Amino acid sequence: MASVTFDKATRLFPKMSHPAVDALDLEIADGEFMVLVGPSGCGKSTTLRMLAGLEDVDSGTIRIGDRDVTHLPPKERDIAMVFQNYALYPHMTTADNMGFALKIAKVHKDDVRRRVAEAAGILGLDDYLGRKPKSLSGGQRQRVAMGRAIVREPQVFLMDEPLSNLDAKLRVQTRTQIASLQRRLGTTTVYVTHDQVEALTMGDRVAVMKDGVLQQVGTPREVFQRPANAFVGGFIGSPAMNLFRLPLTANGIDLGGLVLPLPRSALRAADEEGSTEVVLGVRPEQFAIVSREDSETPGLDVVVDAVEDTGAVTYLHTTAKVGTEAAEVVVRAPGRQSYDKGEELRVAVDPTAVHLFSAKTDLRLP
Ligand code: ATP
Repeated sequence: MASVTFDKATRLFPKMSHPAVDALDLEIADGEFMVLVGPSGCGKSTTLRMLAGLEDVDSGTIRIGDRDVTHLPPKERDIAMVFQNYALYPHMTTADNMGFALKIAKVHKDDVRRRVAEAAGILGLDDYLGRKPKSLSGGQRQRVAMGRAIVREPQVFLMDEPLSNLDAKLRVQTRTQIASLQRRLGTTTVYVTHDQVEALTMGDRVAVMKDGVLQQVGTPREVFQRPANAFVGGFIGSPAMNLFRLPLTANGIDLGGLVLPLPRSALRAADEEGSTEVVLGVRPEQFAIVSREDSETPGLDVVVDAVEDTGAVTYLHTTAKVGTEAAEVVVRAPGRQSYDKGEELRVAVDPTAVHLFSAKTDLRLP
């Protein structure tokens, strides 16, 4: 097992306005499950491919443990990769697919058999060892691809969207299985996904990327509760955080009549950078529906545009007048209560729980 260290690792492609991966500094601890997440094109697959040796590193270095692997060919890196399409050999059985890399590496036949049997046991594939990929389900193929990585007993597992070909229910099951398998094996793992729920549920830590630049790295709880900037705030969490750009007033900020005082530290930071505005972030679950009759409770008046009832909770897509503009506001409401399109509601928010970002830099304000 080993740690993985990216040190200013950069990948440039022609015709791109910015590096695909821009001076990435990232340290992944021995045995850690690190998820790289971000929107399409953010550079997460390129990062993984650089670590795998499938993509050149234009500047900077990559180390696995204390070995500098920056310019080593893939087969000398002691890594095993699980691809999105599994890349199984169609003419080979499950056992042969799983053992193939070992056979090539001239591992003794008995050892190959033993390691394949062990991995098949772990993955529940014992009954499928003689089958070829076309007679396996998507989930079973996915496990064969995992098995092929496991039998190699590498220092690092690399996984590039390995669940994207599975249906929604199987994805949820399989992500739990992969996470617990990784914990059992204790092998350092770098896992790429564009799915923030997958990232939050699987990773020990999550690295959020945008436009080739690492935005934040932290535990799922840290990136969710203290997003480093407005982008991470909006990207992590579903439905997304509501973001409002609001002018600073003497009393704080005014969200459509709901005046929220700002902490002194945030006011000072905004003042220091000469901002007259801040970006307020409120997650749908941070709004509470309050009575419109009770004039004592300050609130934001919203009109329901659409009701999204998931059973346990309901998301209300609403519009509110914020300043001179109509703003879209998503509110989580308790389930099992009916709401109608066109209904007028008032929502309140705990001012100490909201997120504040600089209107100039997008960075979180203290
Ligand atoms: P996705 O989730 O869509 O796979 P990603 O975050 O994994 O996206 P990358 O595949 O790493 O993104 O691509 C990052 C950027 O580099 C993209 O803008 C992509 O178009 C560009 N890119 C990737 N590979 C090449 C290449 N071989 N030549 C030129 N540009 C490339």
